[in-house]
Amino acid sequence: DKMVYYFGKSKTEGRGASKSILGGKGVNLAEMTAIGLPVPPGFTITTQVCDAYYKSGEKMPKGLMDEVNQAVKTLEKETGKKFGDDANPLLVSVRSGAAVSMPGMMNTILNLGLNDAAAEGLAKATKNERFAYDAYRRLINMFGDVVMGMDHHVFEKAFDAVKKKFKVSEDTDVPAEGLKQLCEDYKAVYKKATGNDFPQDPIKQLELSIMAVFSSWNTTRAVRYREIEGIRGLLGTAVNVQSMVYGNMGEDSGTGVAFTRNPNTGENKFFGEFLINAQGEDVVAGIRTPQPVAEMPKWNRAVHKELLAIKKTLEDHYTEMQDIEFTIERGTLYMLQTRTGKRTGVAAVKIACDMVKEKLIDQKTAVLRVPANDLTQLLLPSFKPTARNAADVLTRGLPASPGAAVGKLAFSAEEARQRADAGEMVILVRKETSPEDVDGMNAAAGILTSTGGMTSHAAVVARGWGKCCVAGAGDVEINEKGKKIKVAGRTFGVKDVISLDGTTGEVMSGEVETQEPKLSGDFAKLMKWADEYRTLAIRTNADSPADSKRAREFGAEGIGLCRTEHMFFDAERITHMRTMILAQDEKDRRAALKKLLPFQRKDFEGIFKAMNGLPVTVRLLDPPLHEFLPHETASQKIVAKELGVSAAEVAKRGEALHESNPMLGHRGCRLSVTYPEILEMQVRAIVEAAINCAGKKIKAMPEIMIPLVGTANELELLRKKVEATIEETKAAKKFDGKLDISIGTMIEIPRAALTANEIAAHADFFSFGTNDLTQMTFGYSRDDVNTFLPDYLQQEILNVDPFQSLDTSGVGQLVEMGVEKGRSVKKGLKVGICGEHGGDPASIDFCHKAGLDYVSCSPFRVPIARLAAAQAAL
Ligand code: PEP
Ligand code: MG
Repeated sequence: DKMVYYFGKSKTEGRGASKSILGGKGVNLAEMTAIGLPVPPGFTITTQVCDAYYKSGEKMPKGLMDEVNQAVKTLEKETGKKFGDDANPLLVSVRSGAAVSMPGMMNTILNLGLNDAAAEGLAKATKNERFAYDAYRRLINMFGDVVMGMDHHVFEKAFDAVKKKFKVSEDTDVPAEGLKQLCEDYKAVYKKATGNDFPQDPIKQLELSIMAVFSSWNTTRAVRYREIEGIRGLLGTAVNVQSMVYGNMGEDSGTGVAFTRNPNTGENKFFGEFLINAQGEDVVAGIRTPQPVAEMPKWNRAVHKELLAIKKTLEDHYTEMQDIEFTIERGTLYMLQTRTGKRTGVAAVKIACDMVKEKLIDQKTAVLRVPANDLTQLLLPSFKPTARNAADVLTRGLPASPGAAVGKLAFSAEEARQRADAGEMVILVRKETSPEDVDGMNAAAGILTSTGGMTSHAAVVARGWGKCCVAGAGDVEINEKGKKIKVAGRTFGVKDVISLDGTTGEVMSGEVETQEPKLSGDFAKLMKWADEYRTLAIRTNADSPADSKRAREFGAEGIGLCRTEHMFFDAERITHMRTMILAQDEKDRRAALKKLLPFQRKDFEGIFKAMNGLPVTVRLLDPPLHEFLPHETASQKIVAKELGVSAAEVAKRGEALHESNPMLGHRGCRLSVTYPEILEMQVRAIVEAAINCAGKKIKAMPEIMIPLVGTANELELLRKKVEATIEETKAAKKFDGKLDISIGTMIEIPRAALTANEIAAHADFFSFGTNDLTQMTFGYSRDDVNTFLPDYLQQEILNVDPFQSLDTSGVGQLVEMGVEKGRSVKKGLKVGICGEHGGDPASIDFCHKAGLDYVSCSPFRVPIARLAAAQAAL
């Protein structure tokens, strides 16, 4: 395979190549070059080479350096510069670039190609000795750091010594002579640490740097980032070698990053920041706080105009919002990178809708553009305006990533992670964040930094996750060691709560009340488009009138799973439930059930009312009974007193109900087989509620669902009982109207899928309980899977958690088989899914293809499911 792809005036070999081979950066450098944008020439080494490097035990593949040498020759010819030249040296940057962007996670080496001769050459060519030796000392430092893994402090020590000698305190005040001296000192430090001279051969520098970039693919932080982001299955990183341009050549130079539209709000306005007389890394690292690009005309009107033209060229070409990096070297603009810009969910929706209006894309593309999961961010809470107005605002930073976050202060990523794991809501407070912090950033409710701009590491990462972040709040003085911040003359510590508004950048003292989001405007428009394309119906899993109502507002077309056990947990009901469980005989059990019936009936009425005219699938009691009993002696005593029995009796019953693996034990339809009176009570409650609704002109459409069925006989028996109870209840209520009640089953035991044709004979509908189906197909206990699942994911034995995203090749086969066999005996059998997977876009795609009628998910995921269902259909 070809290992190196050149881009420049003479040729753009990578045009049209895939991201998986050239990486995102490599593909777009080739593309930008091809459409005539000012890109410094260079070449890209493929991700396949990285793969080969690892497969051969971290060795460079044969022939690679020959291809690299060839590309360097072309580059020298095109730029008129030469590697290591003492008059006009070629300098390059070496950067990583995987198929999926991993901001700041991998290595970069700048100014490569400098050696003793070339430093002199650079000084001559730029007529700037200080600049040349500054570049050289940066290279030795970076190379030592990144390529040789040297301790950064040894360089700092040498720098301090030089500053002392020249009696200056700022790096920028060290004169050329001092920097020249520093290069000598750095080389000595380098030799002492590595045992070798700093390599004077640029090709050698290049070879070692390429290896270092490959190695950075597998550092702990990079691996962890991919884990958090769910990035799997890539070959490795590509390496981009590009001729250097300098933004730090004086006041007529600069560098910046920008988005072609606002990545927070989606507003169609060029959005970004730049720094005068600085290198690209300075902006991203958040060390200096840059100026907004809107201010650029004051500095250089022509460059600003050129950037606006490039915005249009890029958007017309990619028909997508772009995130760019640029550098201005002595008044000349160069494009260093473009890629699809990360954006918040809010921005994604607005940009998609706007681009349809602007005729850049069509409706279908708009629906496909918005990652379904990102809608979560539109469904996020914000602060209540009244509470916000009254809030005690301490300071304002940059609105780096929207949302509302409330929590106690945590001062390191590690601390944030630990305290979040222990159930605390924390705000991670850092001067600036680095890629090392991703774990803690992920765990925190929000992130606050005191330096860095809208495109600093913290901002970019937080936005990608839809996590609230306020960056560059310069008034916040952070005392990391003392675990305190000082702001507005006040001090806050680990026990103090603050609130962050990621939309305005405000930092507030105490807990500010939050509110649920409103869904209108572009969001509603996008949802309408999605509804036009999808064929799957979307239901919700809800067991209270309030949840049902909310889900309906989100667009749910019915309830796919009402877990009745959730109705037994409040103080009064649980007592009756426990009395029922402790009852010695059927008579006592019936007495307790009688007390539960009115509660159930009332809940059902509320739900039927909220879902007026839409189907409501009510599942009969499912969990093992021990879940309703206390396990500790102290609580057992309290319960005993409440129920008027002895503590010993409660304990004894608890023991009797104890099962080694309750999830595979006495639960689901097995409960109804043993205690038919439970089924009777629940069915009665459903029927009475439906009759009451009929009296109030509310159209109740209950569907009674029997869980955990594994054999046709179970369903046949229980169906008869349900039917008998329906008739009895109607008779007792003297109701002779029509009640539309269907009776179906869950398919959640592998045997049920295998014998779906037998089961279908007794079922009006199927609903796949993929939580249990996954548990039983894998043989992973739902309750205990976390003891080993993290290892399985880390070692890539599994690519995703099968309880989150449906295992299409295994569990999926059972789903397909269940659908096919069920419909083979009952044409048009209604089939849905109500496991957690019903809200997961990838699983929804599978359900669409498998021919299901609907998916059912939690209320907040309903809009996500609507969009994902449309995307599956397109
Ligand atoms: C399932 O098993 O997928 C299901 C929906 O039921 P539960 O999670 O309540 O067992
Ligand atoms: Mg289940």
